[in-house]
Amino acid sequence: MTHGATLPSSPLPTSSSTHPLLLITHDGSGAATGFVEADAEHPHLNIHDLGVTRGDGIFETYSIGRGHVQALDAHLERFARSARMLDLPQPDLGVWRDAVLEIGQRLADHEEAWVRTILTRGIEGHDMLTGWAQGRPSPDYRRERTEGLRVALLDRGLRSDVAQTSPWLLAGAKTLSYAVNRAAVREAQRRGADDVVFVSTDGFLLEGPNSTVVLRRGDTLSTPPVDFGILPGTTQGDLFAAAPEWGLQAVMEPLTPDDLHAADAAWIVSSVRHVTPIRAVDGVERPIDASLSAAWNGYLHARLS
Ligand code: PLP
Repeated sequence: MTHGATLPSSPLPTSSSTHPLLLITHDGSGAATGFVEADAEHPHLNIHDLGVTRGDGIFETYSIGRGHVQALDAHLERFARSARMLDLPQPDLGVWRDAVLEIGQRLADHEEAWVRTILTRGIEGHDMLTGWAQGRPSPDYRRERTEGLRVALLDRGLRSDVAQTSPWLLAGAKTLSYAVNRAAVREAQRRGADDVVFVSTDGFLLEGPNSTVVLRRGDTLSTPPVDFGILPGTTQGDLFAAAPEWGLQAVMEPLTPDDLHAADAAWIVSSVRHVTPIRAVDGVERPIDASLSAAWNGYLHARLS
């Protein structure tokens, strides 16, 4: 077992039916050997785990619609990509896939749920990875999906070529070091906004702290290029693949804050919250495309893979 003993604590308000948890077991070579069920009400992490002490690990969050894990392959591929970027052993995707599907089944009674996979470099001084998959029913995002969100444009302090010049900064990896992403959302709230769109120091739109930016200008959808040191979004990927269904073409191209202000419609999109229209940028109101937002959210929810 990878998970060291921990002190008991007061139980959290969870139950195994709504908060399923599977601990992934690894051998000394870093290969996953399987998974065991665990009680999410009890602590399982060792305080020396590098995921906790250094944020040294990776994660993925997948949406589940009535038991179907959505964009499963794209998430697993991105999990493996993040592992490569952090020089972690390659996760055994067969084991992780089975664990994710198992959690999906456990949450099949819920209209919307999510499952998260986490892999850390393990307990400091031990050659053993730590991994787990946990799930929960999703919050109700209907208001955000219909009314939209106000975003603040925040400087990320990185150039758009950071992935090429400084790969050790891990821009575009889904690491456990999300404290910066959360700090950015708090800054947005101080500015009277709900969420963030990051901008590179050379003036290009990047992504949200938990989302991909999509613009519609006429019949064309655009999103920033992934080689700008951003995460390749699975939600944006599915929407772009289906764009012809709505008579739209889809491109990846450099975009600026002026493009966002001038776009016919703009969204931030992500796995669990799905599609949320951007209704204001830095306090300036902008139009939303309510019918395309609704169509997209229906489409995303109905995905069977
Ligand atoms: N960009 C970042 C930084 C993210 O953390 C996320 C998801 O959480 C996304 C983009 C959107 O990715 P996905 O659509 O796969 O959820």
